[in-house]
Amino acid sequence: MDSQAFRKHGTEMVEYICKYLDTLKDRRVTPSVEPGYLRHLIPSEAPFEPEEWSKIMQDVEDKIMPGVTHWQHPRFHAYFPAGNAFESILGDMLGDGIGCIGFSWAASPACTELETIVLDWLGKAIGLPDHFLALKEGSTGGGVIQSSASECVLVSMLAARAQALKRLMAQHPFTEESHLLSKLIAYCSKEAHSCVEKAAMISFVKLRILEPDENASLRGRTVSEAMEEDELQGLVPFFVSTTLGTTGSCAFDNLEEIGKELKKFQCVWLHVDAAYAGNSFICPELKSLLTGIEYADSFNTNPNKWLLTNFDCSTFWVRDRIRLTSALVVDPLYLKHCYDDAAIDYRHWGVPLSRRFRSLKLWFVLRSYGISGLQNYIRRHIELAKRFEQHVLKDKRFEICNQVKLGLVCFRLKGNDKLNEKLLSAINESGKLHMVPASVNDKYIIRFCAVAQNACEDDIDYAWETIVDFANELLEKEQH
Ligand code: PLP
Repeated sequence: MDSQAFRKHGTEMVEYICKYLDTLKDRRVTPSVEPGYLRHLIPSEAPFEPEEWSKIMQDVEDKIMPGVTHWQHPRFHAYFPAGNAFESILGDMLGDGIGCIGFSWAASPACTELETIVLDWLGKAIGLPDHFLALKEGSTGGGVIQSSASECVLVSMLAARAQALKRLMAQHPFTEESHLLSKLIAYCSKEAHSCVEKAAMISFVKLRILEPDENASLRGRTVSEAMEEDELQGLVPFFVSTTLGTTGSCAFDNLEEIGKELKKFQCVWLHVDAAYAGNSFICPELKSLLTGIEYADSFNTNPNKWLLTNFDCSTFWVRDRIRLTSALVVDPLYLKHCYDDAAIDYRHWGVPLSRRFRSLKLWFVLRSYGISGLQNYIRRHIELAKRFEQHVLKDKRFEICNQVKLGLVCFRLKGNDKLNEKLLSAINESGKLHMVPASVNDKYIIRFCAVAQNACEDDIDYAWETIVDFANELLEKEQH
């Protein structure tokens, strides 16, 4: 394709995307296909000869779209939001067009420097302490964009592991490193995202999963008592992953209590995973949810969830960048440059070497909306979630199962898990609405999240009416 054809097809593609998003309501929110549906529609070999663009686009509509789950659909209330503002799409498109690979400052200075600046902007807006900001006088910390919250948790665990091993090797110089590794133990709540478990598997460390309280919040004493017990068994606590805004029910661990308890132990890294909720801390009235952040060694939130920015954009800050990079530095000659010592090289801040120009889309979003525009977007979703909560509370057959602080409402029919499983599966099969379940306090609950970028009251009322229709039908059937 030459630039002339790119101009033509690019305009058509923008038109296709606009039409897709403008007419989403006319489609089922979830596809009605079985596994393997696409194999029957697409040849098993790549074409040897080039194909016409128009033919490919026709296949998008006829073959791909029938298998798409429409995350931007106004009837999509599953998981958490997936940012997709036009400003972000265009920022990403520009990054793709520039096509640089910014693994070091020298590999593309603007790519590195914009990331550092934008992460400081966002860190300040969220209310992170100054030591997390790279450009603050005297600060040792800084921020970086990772692909996912899972990667942020992994990288923080790897840094904590390196720090703990270094300390243990100094204390026990004649002991095998593998023996010391076998002593390390990390902690999280039962409500933490499964990525903590995965990070522990990758890092070859033990993980103790702790019981939260009745509000799904992990408490300080629970953590310190477990750590004391483990120390008595000869284990070495080295890492605690807390969550602000759990995936299941948007619950908040008691960061302040945990932080204070950790002071009693030597060198335990405290990570805060706020993948969804962290974005909302840009609103002054929600900053109290961040209480205790001064104890944290690292923090992550995903603007690609709730800050209108496209996947992938997971922002991660550390208190001490040297402690992070010392776990990840490898330095072959071909990657060295003459500003090695003076500049940030993000290749040392994460797992991959190559990196896209991801800060561009976040920069476009932050500038186009301004912090005030983003605050309005977050507040709107919270208002809509509260509206949904009110609907649930008015119907005595249902109960609310979480403290609705942000955009997620957890609810269920009063009754057993089976009944709620049947309700959710009937709703999802209809394609009229999409929600997912979770298990909170060992109960099956249905999650309803305000997701669509421009969601309005009518969307919430429609969703509730749909749920009530299915519940009426189910309860009637159950009686016979
Ligand atoms: N942490 C929390 C609290 C989450 O809610 C999620 C996903 O929803 C994750 C981590 C995993 O996010 P990612 O897909 O960015 O790895």
